[in-house]
Amino acid sequence: MDDLDTIADSIRRAQRIVILTGAGISTESGIPDFRGPQGVWTKNPDAEKTATLQYYVGDPEVRKKAWRNRVESPLWDAEPNSGHRAIADLEKKAALHTIVTQNIDGLHHRAGSSPEIIVEIHGNVREVKCLGCTWRAPMEEALERVLAGEDDPRCHGCGGILKSATISFGENLVVEDLERSQRAAAGSDLFLAIGSSLGVYPAAALPEVALGAGARLVVMNAEPTPFDRYADAVVRDQLGVVLPKLAELV
Ligand code: NAD
Repeated sequence: MDDLDTIADSIRRAQRIVILTGAGISTESGIPDFRGPQGVWTKNPDAEKTATLQYYVGDPEVRKKAWRNRVESPLWDAEPNSGHRAIADLEKKAALHTIVTQNIDGLHHRAGSSPEIIVEIHGNVREVKCLGCTWRAPMEEALERVLAGEDDPRCHGCGGILKSATISFGENLVVEDLERSQRAAAGSDLFLAIGSSLGVYPAAALPEVALGAGARLVVMNAEPTPFDRYADAVVRDQLGVVLPKLAELV
């Protein structure tokens, strides 16, 4: 089923569709991915440290850099693009059961997808959390503290290290989110992997779970992924262009 008409047809017929999205769906909103040709890590491999728990906890300089990056991040001005909106549109037309997103940008919510069907498997940037206790606060408050001169703000409760409420490399996923995603994948009959290099486990295991349960797999990503050879269809076009076309055809 390589052409869009055939994919649209299987979307129409599917009883339980699960979508997994990665950073590639948000690049057209101005948020760079990590591993694509213009990716943050492709351009600067050292940047990976700020997203790795071990370095973040162990090195105050990494934390200071992470807080500067957060203040300057394109995330705060980003708007959903036509790809996010097409996925929200698909929900109205087809049996879309769950959107599992590796993204932390909240753009599926803002594009109008129902919050009940979204699992943010790597957390989100709306809050900061303390690594020492259960204290949480809105991200805005922490950014204001950084702008006011605190280059490594600490928890108001216990003095512990603060970090965005995202899942860093080396950090455990939230068990309920992971189990919900796995159940959704195992119960799906069509699984669409969109804008992900499918290289980050355990999220990348979800297409495996879906295939094991007999689901059809569609991979939509500009670059090859390790799952392309198991997919019923592979689409390499720009997501902001191809997703609206697909949603239109359904
Ligand atoms: P990734 O960086 O590993 O891969 C993104 C893939 O998307 C690349 O293969 C790239 O070729 C493709 N791509 C980029 N723009 C595209 C476009 N317009 N059309 C089609 N394909 C496009 O991303 P990942 O697999 O999601 O893993 C990175 C991790 O980092 C994620 O788990 C996520 O938590 C985090 N992350 C999130 C954001 C965000 O929230 N927007 C941004 C960067 C990284």
